[in-house]
Amino acid sequence: MKPKLEELKVGFLAALDNVKDDQGLEELRVEYLGRKGKLGDILKGLKDLSVEEKKDIGAFANTVKAELESVFKRKQAELAHELAGAKAQDEWIDVTAPGIAPEPGHLHFSTQAIEEFVDIFKQLGFVRVRHPEVDWDYYAFEALNMPKGHPARDEWETFFIADGDKVMEGEKGKMVLTPHTSNGQVREMEKGYMPLRMMSINKTYRRQADVTHVPMFHQLEGLMIDKNVTLAQLKGTFDFFVKRFFGPDREVRLRPHHFPFTEPSFELDISCNTCHGSGEFEGNRCRMCKEGWHELGGAGMVHPNVIRAGGLDPEEYNGFAFGWGVERCMSMKSGMNLRDLRIIYKNDIRFLKQF
Ligand SMILES: [Zn+2]
Repeated sequence: MKPKLEELKVGFLAALDNVKDDQGLEELRVEYLGRKGKLGDILKGLKDLSVEEKKDIGAFANTVKAELESVFKRKQAELAHELAGAKAQDEWIDVTAPGIAPEPGHLHFSTQAIEEFVDIFKQLGFVRVRHPEVDWDYYAFEALNMPKGHPARDEWETFFIADGDKVMEGEKGKMVLTPHTSNGQVREMEKGYMPLRMMSINKTYRRQADVTHVPMFHQLEGLMIDKNVTLAQLKGTFDFFVKRFFGPDREVRLRPHHFPFTEPSFELDISCNTCHGSGEFEGNRCRMCKEGWHELGGAGMVHPNVIRAGGLDPEEYNGFAFGWGVERCMSMKSGMNLRDLRIIYKNDIRFLKQF
């Protein structure tokens, strides 16, 4: 039996030498040292030997077995080491290399304009408030001196919300996506604190989209209500804003107009940055403006009917209101050359990065 064991050992060592990977190693283990392996086969013969022989051969067999297991383990460790070395070569990283910093973002073009508005009007005591973007027809039109069927309603390309004409008790009737932020006027007066100076800056919606209109845009609505408010205060407020937002060289102009919710009413104009209000540039008609001016928004002294809708006595209180589109106002800033307002909401990073 001893020669068989010697032979087995030689065969095992030779085979082990040729093993290249874990799989080969495992196959070899099963073939020689496994439960049904070659060593086990030989040892089965032990039971047929005499007691003396068993002692002798058994001891020898154990030595061989221990020796095989020992070299097997050494080979296993060698392979693991080789594998780790190969991995280290393939997956090497330089932990001292500088990191890749994520690109910092910034506030959207429109948000920046809104923050600027808030900062400017805050200096005059105006407080930013918010009112619903989906509101009752009552606040968007009726309370603003535009009863149902009033022709002026058509000027606002309004989105109506289908509510099945269900009007709950105490509610004000059909809903709209606010076509202007003027819905905040009566809502704010209803709160009942006087005097009030508010700026309501919110999203507004109209059914129109072209180079100068986006269906969702932002509007600023300013409202001041107190006793003995004058038109001069309106003009002063507008002038204060324009000089700070557009620059100290810009002039303002109030041009008579008509709105249902103000009386008298005005269009708010600012002088052209190119021709400085003259309408002429380098001997020619200025191509940037209409006779020296740009129209920014609308304003006026709050109509007595609107004051009344707000629960106040128009004999006691009066005030002024003004409003304009945030995007339009931003596009009129010096150096701005926006040919199509719709780009503001196209999420084109190349455009947005510039502000
Ligand atoms: Zn001009």
